[in-house]
Amino acid sequence: SAIQNKIAAGEVVERPSSVVKELLENSIDANARQVEVFIEESGMKQIRIVDDGDGIHHSDGPLLFQRHATSKIDTDYDLFQIRSLGFRGEALASIGAVAKVTVETNHLDGNPVFIRFEGGRLVEQIPGKERKGTDITITDLFYNTPARLKYMRSMRTESGKIIDVIQRMALAYPRVSFRLVLDHSEKVMTKGNGNLKEVISDIYGLNIARHAVSFEAQDSDFHIQGFLIRPEINRSNRNYLNISVNRRFIRSFRLSQAVINGYHTLLPKDKYPIAIIDITMDPKLVDVNVHPAKTEVRFSKERELNQLLETAVRSRMKDEML
Ligand code: ADP
Ligand code: MG
Repeated sequence: SAIQNKIAAGEVVERPSSVVKELLENSIDANARQVEVFIEESGMKQIRIVDDGDGIHHSDGPLLFQRHATSKIDTDYDLFQIRSLGFRGEALASIGAVAKVTVETNHLDGNPVFIRFEGGRLVEQIPGKERKGTDITITDLFYNTPARLKYMRSMRTESGKIIDVIQRMALAYPRVSFRLVLDHSEKVMTKGNGNLKEVISDIYGLNIARHAVSFEAQDSDFHIQGFLIRPEINRSNRNYLNISVNRRFIRSFRLSQAVINGYHTLLPKDKYPIAIIDITMDPKLVDVNVHPAKTEVRFSKERELNQLLETAVRSRMKDEML
């Protein structure tokens, strides 16, 4: 119901940056190679995401904004081996409940359509322009939830969080080109040529990219891969730790701590590393269904993983310092 959707919306899309994250995930799941994001007034006025992905089938239009309408999972069993970034079928329903949405899309083998939603209801579906992929525009976010709106207006800015989401996504997907335009000025631009070191340069600058050293570790359950930045240009906070699991960026206090511990055998304790790390594992070993936002995860072999990561970081940094 409309009320249920409004309640759920509070968990999935609590702020503009979480809307951006959900929409980016959908573009990636649709195999997009190029994703452009246009933001106005920190996302409160407009969030627009244009991708060149597989598009949405015209017959799915009316379903798009229904809860648990997902094309990505067929059976309960699938829930235990999630390979797509989305799977709950909640994001669009939640966004549709608290904003005005238009979608222009063309499915690979379908007819292009233009769809308009308001207050969680489909108000228009007409033939759309020929195009590749999907163009989604969210306007007037939280217009019908005054408490949330007031809270957001009083926040200084959401833009930093939006930049952060796109940077982390770009670092996890070097084969996808990302572009972010904030109030008409370009803030992020990556080429999508698959070269992670170039993405690091595009995001953190050439000097940091030059100091990035690749590292890798593996045991029977996990494969860790990425770049560590040499200690002399480390930062004074933890924000530069980018950890993804099967290319889903996550927040894990313990994994971050493992990286920091690996560095800290050699470093002053007030400095934090810059790191870009992806961990590949059987999806059965990680539960991403802990929270609707899907950035909190639970590992079934956490101790083993922490140990592997900490040791890998420590030995790579030792090599580097010799
Ligand atoms: P989920 O990602 O969990 O399946 P969402 O609410 O995020 O749920 O999206 C609902 C459905 O809409 C997706 O399963 C997908 O089929 C479709 N969809 C949304 N955005 C896109 C997009 N950019 N390209 C193609 N399909 C999309
Ligand atoms: Mg999704």
